[in-house]
Amino acid sequence: MSEHYICTGTCHGVSETPGTCQAENCPQHGQSLESCSCTDDKHGGGQDVPAPDPESSESVV
Ligand SMILES: [Zn+2]
Ligand SMILES: [Zn+2]
Repeated sequence: MSEHYICTGTCHGVSETPGTCQAENCPQHGQSLESCSCTDDKHGGGQDVPAPDPESSESVV
């Protein structure tokens, strides 16, 4: 459940640290990675997530 950083481009890059996309053939190359804290490796950033989100309460910080 550790936070990670993902590229929203076509490379689907994942990093454990903040940074920028390193894939030169990705449209998001050089753009900042988006923080993500998913636990299912789906990085549900809000594209198409048909599954209902059971998280009705805030996560404990
Ligand atoms: Zn990328
Ligand atoms: Zn994720």
